[in-house]
Amino acid sequence: MQTILVTGGAGFIGSNFMAFFLKKEQDCKIINLDALTYAGNISNLVELEEDSRYTFVKGDICDRELLEKLFNKYNFSGVIHFAAESHVDNSIKNPDAFVRTNVFGTFNLLDVAKKYWMESPNVFKEGFENSKFLHISTDEVYGTLGHEGLFNEQTPYAPNSPYSASKASSDFLVRSYFHTYGMNVITTNCSNNYGPKQHDEKLIPTIIRKAILGEKIPIYGDGKNVRDWLFVLDHCNGIRIAYESGEYGETYNIGGKNERNNIYIANKICEILDKVHPKENSYKEQISFVKDRPGHDFRYAIDASKIENELGWKADENFESGILKTIQWYLKKYK
Ligand code: NAD
Repeated sequence: MQTILVTGGAGFIGSNFMAFFLKKEQDCKIINLDALTYAGNISNLVELEEDSRYTFVKGDICDRELLEKLFNKYNFSGVIHFAAESHVDNSIKNPDAFVRTNVFGTFNLLDVAKKYWMESPNVFKEGFENSKFLHISTDEVYGTLGHEGLFNEQTPYAPNSPYSASKASSDFLVRSYFHTYGMNVITTNCSNNYGPKQHDEKLIPTIIRKAILGEKIPIYGDGKNVRDWLFVLDHCNGIRIAYESGEYGETYNIGGKNERNNIYIANKICEILDKVHPKENSYKEQISFVKDRPGHDFRYAIDASKIENELGWKADENFESGILKTIQWYLKKYK
């Protein structure tokens, strides 16, 4: 039975991923290492509590001694690395936490895994030839697009926020451990996710929560910024496929060709709430525009043809089907 170290599994995507992965893969154990920062939520993990294949460890990926202890204790054959500071607005106010966790933390994990799995560059210790490190990253490393074009795996990196710069740095460290040491690494760069268990601070939970509470729904600038939205379980399936079948040293873009601008999203959520949770006035009347975020990237859009053609991944949900499921989940949480 393989034992995988998952980092940041108490967060939005990691918690969805572990439940999804353990359902698909019977012959597998997961150790979830999470520091439970403000973004980690232990209640995201309730459905895993009874699963004997799952263990939670509270701890920091920057703590090298702890990582070494965990590798020695559990003999990991894989790492799936989600842990990060992930909110762009926080990176503008407090970039140092992003450099610490996203850059130094990723380096620490890579380096401990390399020492545990490898004898010397390109030589694995016996039994660790297929050990692998999957790094979860973002499309924000590519910077911003105009009205046309898509990010593909050849697009040059041009990060614009401290968040995306720290993720870009971590991607380069992962790349270097392949080219320098021959470590088995794979990186995925995904577009914006939405779905159950996302932190309250992010755009879609904020729109739903403010709407239900009867408060103003804040939309940055003119609301025309475009993101390529992917339902979180489609991302989880892409991560599973990349982990199981991805080629070492390769990167895979994941996105569902669902470009929507922020004002469309706010209007769509309000329309659905008007139907499923009606009140006297339309929720749309609560939408209000606020001062734009500094350095706000205009548009992100992903060309996912590499993971679709080479690994057979495709998104099951479009934005309109995924957002309905998402609203139903948050209605239970916020009502
Ligand atoms: P999140 O903020 O919801 O969760 C991050 C988790 O990491 C939290 O549980 C937190 O406690 C933990 N963590 C933070 N610092 C840590 C540390 N030093 N040691 C151990 N644990 C720590 O993030 P998310 O939205 O689930 O994103 C997960 C990953 O996916 C991130 O690497 C992010 O860059 C990437 N990603 C996210 C999106 C998105 O739309 N959310 C899109 C593409 C890529």
